[in-house]
Amino acid sequence: MNPLRTLILAAAGNDAVRHLVATAPVSRAVVRRFVAGETASDAVGATAALVADGLTVTLDHLGEDTTDRALAERTVQAYLALLDRLHAERLADRAEVSVKLSAVGQALDERLALENASRICAAAEQCGTTVTLDAEDHTTTDSTLRVLHELRRSWPWVGAVLQAYLRRTQADCRELAGPGSRVRLCKGAYAEPPSVAFADAHEVDLSYVRCVNELLAGEGYPMFATHDPRLVEIIGERARWHDRKPGTFEYQMLYGVRPDEQRRLARAGNTVRIYLPYGEQWYGYLMRRLAERPANTTFFLRALAGR
Ligand code: FAD
Repeated sequence: MNPLRTLILAAAGNDAVRHLVATAPVSRAVVRRFVAGETASDAVGATAALVADGLTVTLDHLGEDTTDRALAERTVQAYLALLDRLHAERLADRAEVSVKLSAVGQALDERLALENASRICAAAEQCGTTVTLDAEDHTTTDSTLRVLHELRRSWPWVGAVLQAYLRRTQADCRELAGPGSRVRLCKGAYAEPPSVAFADAHEVDLSYVRCVNELLAGEGYPMFATHDPRLVEIIGERARWHDRKPGTFEYQMLYGVRPDEQRRLARAGNTVRIYLPYGEQWYGYLMRRLAERPANTTFFLRALAGR
């Protein structure tokens, strides 16, 4: 892995750096590029604007690694309130939610995370929309897939996320490519050891393409999350080869990243979903976005140093 990326991802877990970044006046400007705001109203407003541009959305209430039951409960309440708002604003047919199990209690007790995620899924069903379970670091993958299987007994539309950098993922794609299965494929955003993950960027890309083939050959609904221009092109080619029509798969990109490309793909008739994060706990999310692109980091460090 690129040493700068490793350094930034390590800083993501360091309290002193967290404090420095969170209190720097410049942070807000940088955060605003990737995060839609701190409140549900900010998020719903940004969602309406994206929908008006022909895009669809998945909303993430920021927060992760909760070891506090009360905080996990507050996260569930935030999702329930958000789903109500999406329904009231008639956005629920264009906007779903993404949930990190670690934000709803996974580190405390897998059953608690399952119960909390079930409450969010039941509310989503009432509102006429869906839920996708984000993928976190590899130590949580088995637990997250167990929870996914449980949730799918009641709500078969619950989406999974698989990370192409993990060596296991091609097999997971094959397993999860059945009828009706919604699977988001991304490269993966955490610092992982080479024993479980490909370290070389080219190897990750090759794995991504193998996984694209598995998902397109299957009977599920693949959701290809990448900004990588080469991969976007390959996905289009492979989709045509597998005779996949627009509407039988989708592209996904992050809020604030390649907005022109998001709209170009939508105008070409594709379903394009924007991952829209909001909330006060933006630190871990921001650090992963900075780690992905050295240009973002340079911009951020210059601003932090007041230059
Ligand atoms: P890269 O090789 O990182 O980037 C390719 C090109 O895209 C770059 O050259 C640049 O032009 C552009 N680009 C990429 N990132 C940025 C950026 N931050 N700022 C500006 N330009 C950029 N990861 C997880 O581990 N779990 C998840 O649940 C998860 N969900 C995701 C959901 C969505 C919708 C998306 C798009 C990504 C998600 N990710 C998730 C993150 C993902 O794993 C990657 O870390 C991230 O998408 C960067 O990989 P890339 O495929 O865009 O390719």
